[in-house]
Amino acid sequence: MLIEAGHRCAIPTCKATPVEIAHIVPWSKVRKHEFKNLIALCPTCHTRFDDPHGPIGLKAMRQYKANLNPLLSGNLSNREGQADRLATYQELRACFAEWIPAEAKHAAAKSRRASQPDTVEDLRTQAVTKFASVVGAVADFQSVWKESEARDLAGAIFYHAADWIDEVNESRFPIPKQLARRDIAEEISDASAQLHLIVCEELSM
Ligand SMILES: [Zn+2]
Repeated sequence: MLIEAGHRCAIPTCKATPVEIAHIVPWSKVRKHEFKNLIALCPTCHTRFDDPHGPIGLKAMRQYKANLNPLLSGNLSNREGQADRLATYQELRACFAEWIPAEAKHAAAKSRRASQPDTVEDLRTQAVTKFASVVGAVADFQSVWKESEARDLAGAIFYHAADWIDEVNESRFPIPKQLARRDIAEEISDASAQLHLIVCEELSM
């Protein structure tokens, strides 16, 4: 956990030292110490997180955990195949991070009666470009992570988002508000966190 967080508080805007090891889901609930549920925090952030009325929620903490870079060990890049696996994962994440907001922007514009057709079309074109990158990234990821749970999970996440985009693209202007407002990032957040854990475990992090 200390190496994962670089011996600093895992909250990116804090990074204070010294650190303590905190349970993400409380010890009183899980009754075990597992890597995936532990995170390095400074005493101040730890206290703020443990306070049920405090400003740091469970979801935020899970995100901080997920954001810790899985590339930690210098040896990793020397291990055959591991570097490729990590690189395709990081590429996949980066592409998704651009794609979903682009699609959401397009969907939002397409749901507003007042939107200009040119604007909607521009946003669609931008989203399609990002979509193409994601398709490439998913294919690369799956070819490197062959026959693994990670491979299947990445596919499932992609298709979940792609189904929504199909619906947005196929629905006539203006599309229903509730379709535009679907929070796909939220819908795939558990699966994405799960994928992250599998990747970390597979890469022996
Ligand atoms: Zn802190």
